[in-house]
Amino acid sequence: MPRVMTEKPKSHGRLKVRPTLTPRALMEDTPDLVNTWTARVITLFPNAFPGVLGQSLTGKALDMGKWRLEPIDLRPFGEGKHKNVDDTPAGGGAGMVLRADIVSKALDKAAEGTPTSRGRWPVVYLSPRGRRFDQTMAKNWARAEGVTLLCGRFEGVDERVLEEYQIEEVSLGDFVLTGGELAAQAMIDATVRLLPGVLGNATSTEDESHSHGLLEHPQYTRPAEWRGRAIPEVLLSGNHGAVEEWRREMSEALTRARRPDLWAKYEENKG
Ligand code: SAH
Repeated sequence: MPRVMTEKPKSHGRLKVRPTLTPRALMEDTPDLVNTWTARVITLFPNAFPGVLGQSLTGKALDMGKWRLEPIDLRPFGEGKHKNVDDTPAGGGAGMVLRADIVSKALDKAAEGTPTSRGRWPVVYLSPRGRRFDQTMAKNWARAEGVTLLCGRFEGVDERVLEEYQIEEVSLGDFVLTGGELAAQAMIDATVRLLPGVLGNATSTEDESHSHGLLEHPQYTRPAEWRGRAIPEVLLSGNHGAVEEWRREMSEALTRARRPDLWAKYEENKG
């Protein structure tokens, strides 16, 4: 079974149980199989998926059915022999704009079988004009049942479809990409790693950067000395309390130095 569905998304409530998953594993690791967290991505480049999401821990979790990815190809919704999806901007100017009537057909497809509440299923247009994506948004998305992400290309999409469908614009950062696909993958990655059972014990989402409003402390591993640089002694002391304290101090110092904005918020919340 292909793990990426480029055709019609199946109703998301049913996941085929693979023979490799024993009933025991199902119960322990994936209590939410009936409602597997799903990303539906409307794109002109469905072959760009899973992309980097197919690698490492997110890829393994995808193979195991711990989350689902359903790219929806925008092209077949296009018009005429060439399946045109775009047209020149009203008012003139360079580039092309994705048509509202075409995009709406893909959005209708993506909405099939999903809850209408945006809290339970956010519907998002990737856009440099949008609210900046952050860890809090990733947590909210992970708590939802899935998301629909609309990837723009060219100059973007006709404004009317964004209004009509009450689509939230979300940005990866203050720069302009060629298309929404990389942004979608980055946001899906940040979300999926928060789902239960995706990271396993391999790494923790508890005390990494941004989880408590601080940046992470420095990390070290063997060799104990490299090019005359030693690992900070406290980390080799075996004194867990001292290690914890050192890490917290480093976290705070780094955040204060590099991200005064985060530091101010952190202090506010503490007080
Ligand atoms: N003309 C638009 C930019 C279009 S870039 C503007 O000035 O706002 C083409 C597509 O890339 C966009 O439709 C959007 O889906 C995607 N994109 C570009 N930059 C992005 C960013 N920072 N975050 C998320 N998506 C982005």
